[in-house]
Amino acid sequence: MSEDALLALEQAELPPAGRRLFCNRTLNLRAIEAIGFDMDYTLVHYRVDEWERRAYEHLKKRLIARGFPIEDLQFDPEVAVLGLILDVELGNIVKANRFGYVKRSSHGTRMMPFEDQRTAYDRTVIDLSDRRWAFLNTLFGLSEACMFAQLVDRLDAGTLHVTWQASPGVDPDAPVRDGLLSYAQLYHIVRSSLDATHMEGALKAEIIASPEQFVVLDPELPLALLDLASAGKKLVVITNSEWHYTQAMMSYAFDRYLPAGKTWRSLFDLVIVAARKPLFFTERMPAFEVLDEAGHLLPATGALEVGKTYLGGHSRLVERGLGVPGEQILYVGDHIFADVNVSKSVSRWRTCLVIRDLERELDALASFGDAQRALSEMMAKKELLEHRYSQLRVTALRIEEGYGDPPEGVTLSMLRAKMRDLRAGLVAIDERIAPLARRSGELASGRWGLLLRTGNDKSHLARQIERHADVYTSRVSNFLHSTPFVYLRSPRGSLPHDPGPEGGIA
Ligand code: IMP
Ligand code: MG
Repeated sequence: MSEDALLALEQAELPPAGRRLFCNRTLNLRAIEAIGFDMDYTLVHYRVDEWERRAYEHLKKRLIARGFPIEDLQFDPEVAVLGLILDVELGNIVKANRFGYVKRSSHGTRMMPFEDQRTAYDRTVIDLSDRRWAFLNTLFGLSEACMFAQLVDRLDAGTLHVTWQASPGVDPDAPVRDGLLSYAQLYHIVRSSLDATHMEGALKAEIIASPEQFVVLDPELPLALLDLASAGKKLVVITNSEWHYTQAMMSYAFDRYLPAGKTWRSLFDLVIVAARKPLFFTERMPAFEVLDEAGHLLPATGALEVGKTYLGGHSRLVERGLGVPGEQILYVGDHIFADVNVSKSVSRWRTCLVIRDLERELDALASFGDAQRALSEMMAKKELLEHRYSQLRVTALRIEEGYGDPPEGVTLSMLRAKMRDLRAGLVAIDERIAPLARRSGELASGRWGLLLRTGNDKSHLARQIERHADVYTSRVSNFLHSTPFVYLRSPRGSLPHDPGPEGGIA
């Protein structure tokens, strides 16, 4: 038996695709001295529909209290997905490609016809630093996007008569359409109400009261962390959640898998709650020690001490407390801006993005594998037919205009006959391509398709990940399968001029 076990280890295969660590920028995990983890949707994964439905209900209650007649609205998880962008000026949700061009869109909850989309976005390149755009950075954005889209529908239907009260952060002179709210004002109300919903205790109290309803357990996670710690890495939690919520969620997700008497707290060298990321990486905010379960606080004056829990602080305090420079710290989180973009660009930490939906995305791609191969073959054939058609056409042009050196004995009518044949061939191939291309665009989500692709191109989300995440993976426990000793090398990367199926030259 022990020989069998040894053989299995000796001949271990790489993890299945959905459980791998994918690498944009080479990362030798052996050279990483400390790993920081975000909590929500990173160490603790939620049933998205359930969590967001609760958040949506609390948000709805707030809006009703403000006078919105929306008792009948229901959360619809299909309205938006991670990485989409709200156009708060036009009341749209859009999916963009890596260059920032809009490739699919909905106005309110209704998908926009191609012509309308072209009229709205023909000359638009999305720049996320402009307040017109709100990027859905995490799964916590789904309730917000759904509510915004549904309220846009109501506003258009003229059934949302709510007057605007100026609030901080929004231009008081923003135009009010016919006495109605503008889409931007509507968005601001939804955003600030959801913000308040997350901050105020009632929603979190419901989650704490029935974690089994909301949290997806991952039995492999504690072992993954134990491996990393035993291999000498210092482990840290850095979460924006406050102490009581963190304690409740971590204890629910971890303690059951640990030896009697041990708690989640023993897995980590430092725990930082209410971190206020992204400011945690950019500002120097004071830290407070969390003294006990009840959450009593004491200002922390010196360096952070290993074994303790803190509220607030900043990234430099973590580097100093652990004695590890930023480039030897890996931060693992799910928020594309706060966890990955800023930690990397400002603090120069190495970064790992967690995207749970990657597993679904890879399943969808695998199930479409044969069809994709057929589609790629047909596209290559189409390119060849188009090339031949263009050859005939340019020759006909030269004959008509009397220049160049057209081949002898070839007449215009002969060329036109061949062109007709080729055109018929192109129409036939387009008819075969269309249904496959449609299916390809509906993989993973009928409305929005794959998260990381727009047609053949990379999506805006994929581009963000490529730029800011050194590594990405579907869940933290994938570190278990790769081990603390993995050397992640960035792939060669494809370019249009590469030979072979990945490049343009077959
Ligand atoms: P983290 O992912 O562990 O850093 O924690 C995310 C925390 O931010 C959770 O406690 C969420 O409830 C909270 N959160 C998510 N979205 C919002 C928001 O829009 N406003 C305020 N807090 C939020
Ligand atoms: Mg998070």
